[in-house]
Amino acid sequence: MKCAPFEYVRAGSVDEVVKVLGEADGDGKILAGGQSLVPVLALRMARPSVLVDVNRIPGLSSIRPVDGGVEVGALVRHSRLVEQTHYPLLAEAARWIGHTAIRTRGTMGGSIAHADPAAELPVVAAGTDARITIAGPSGERTVAAEELFLSALMTSLDEDEMIVRVRYPALDRWGFAEFSRRHGDFALVTAVVATVAGQTRVTLGGVGAVPVRATHAEQVLARGGTAGEAAAAASEEIEPTADLHGTVPFRRAIAGEMVRRALADAGIE
Ligand SMILES: Cc1cc2nc3c(=O)[nH]c(=O)nc-3n(C[C@H](O)[C@H](O)[C@H](O)COP(=O)(O)OP(=O)(O)OC[C@H]3O[C@@H](n4cnc5c(N)ncnc54)[C@H](O)[C@@H]3O)c2cc1C
Repeated sequence: MKCAPFEYVRAGSVDEVVKVLGEADGDGKILAGGQSLVPVLALRMARPSVLVDVNRIPGLSSIRPVDGGVEVGALVRHSRLVEQTHYPLLAEAARWIGHTAIRTRGTMGGSIAHADPAAELPVVAAGTDARITIAGPSGERTVAAEELFLSALMTSLDEDEMIVRVRYPALDRWGFAEFSRRHGDFALVTAVVATVAGQTRVTLGGVGAVPVRATHAEQVLARGGTAGEAAAAASEEIEPTADLHGTVPFRRAIAGEMVRRALADAGIE
């Protein structure tokens, strides 16, 4: 199948993106790496009248250490995240995304905006309490990652807004674990452990429509409980649904094990 016809605009600045999206009045789409959007267009599941290509906009491809954390431009490709050494958690998570071709094209902004519940980068963003800066007609605004993800493939972005960068805080400790059937497949379950300003956050992907904080597990850890007790709490508190890939008890068991492994990765026993 071929895409429905569309007008193609190669934007030279973020302001131009916002202007073109505004003029399209809800019928425009940003084209970044195209790894999620193009298949959707090819299947005609979306038929935007305007595609705004953001790939040539300068200034959105940097990875900058800031206050012990890192600021990542929206156009940073997954492959660059794998290679960078400023924020090892992002390098580890990006390594699990798809295959080489996908990591070479796919971008930070695209992955966050696409908000796939099984994708790695949204879980890392929510799990580290990252801040997402968004450009729109009235300038820039910054939101916590957890406020951005509304449901599967749904965010609080307006139709004329663009993610421009994501800021990840300094981490005292971090851990990552993922289970997928084959390397490169979307995750069945991803677990991210991040200690931010002394508080350990446990966040899961693949067990709900958005990244899910395992708050009971976090409370167990805050009370001095063991990693095993926290993993059991996480497994209990989530509400996964059954699908082709597994039953509810299977996902609970995998989630518990991924939390245990991510905690071990963070040095929490
Ligand atoms: C075979 C295959 C396997 C994959 N496996 C994985 C995987 O294991 N894990 C994983 O996480 N992902 C996986 N992906 C998806 C991949 O990571 C994509 O790169 C990513 O989801 C979207 O990034 P993109 O830059 O390609 O965005 P695009 O496809 O260009 O855009 C995706 C959506 O985001 C919007 N958008 C893009 N950039 C912005 C922005 N800056 N601001 C606002 N909106 C924006 C677009 O309008 C569109 O709606 C896979 C894809 C394929 C084809």
